[in-house]
Amino acid sequence: MTKQDKRFMQLAIDLSVENVENGGGPFGAVIVRDSEIVATGTNRVTANNDPTAHAEVTAIRSACQKVGSFKLEGCTIYTSCEPCPMCLSAIYWAGISRICFANTKQDAENIHFGDKFIYDEIERPMSDRSIPTEHFMRDEALQAFRDWEEKADKIEY
Ligand SMILES: [Zn+2]
Repeated sequence: MTKQDKRFMQLAIDLSVENVENGGGPFGAVIVRDSEIVATGTNRVTANNDPTAHAEVTAIRSACQKVGSFKLEGCTIYTSCEPCPMCLSAIYWAGISRICFANTKQDAENIHFGDKFIYDEIERPMSDRSIPTEHFMRDEALQAFRDWEEKADKIEY
């Protein structure tokens, strides 16, 4: 942890504290590239009726809009809490280069923001998961994949 890391993490923490006052969950995130803040985000799940509006996802959406790209290579995300599986996935999809977090999964679990059940679900065979999952119409669905494979001017990601 550098002095600069500490400064950006403190900002993520400050955002998480302010967000509780502002009707959101106790989470904040900051995305930084080349020592500059690209975007910040807070948890807006209940405020926006958006179950995906976790601080990290909110920050990633905002950062991508700002830089005009779906990739955030070279960026560090400072998040006030260890990312949940959705946010961790979003961080990977965005190609963020470094993750720094403060509160742990266990700290979140202690205030009933646990995500252990999702990590556990991912480990289970599909047939044992709590949401029934059915697989059908693969042949029909493959059409879009064939079209994609053949598309000459696609933007790969
Ligand atoms: Zn999350």
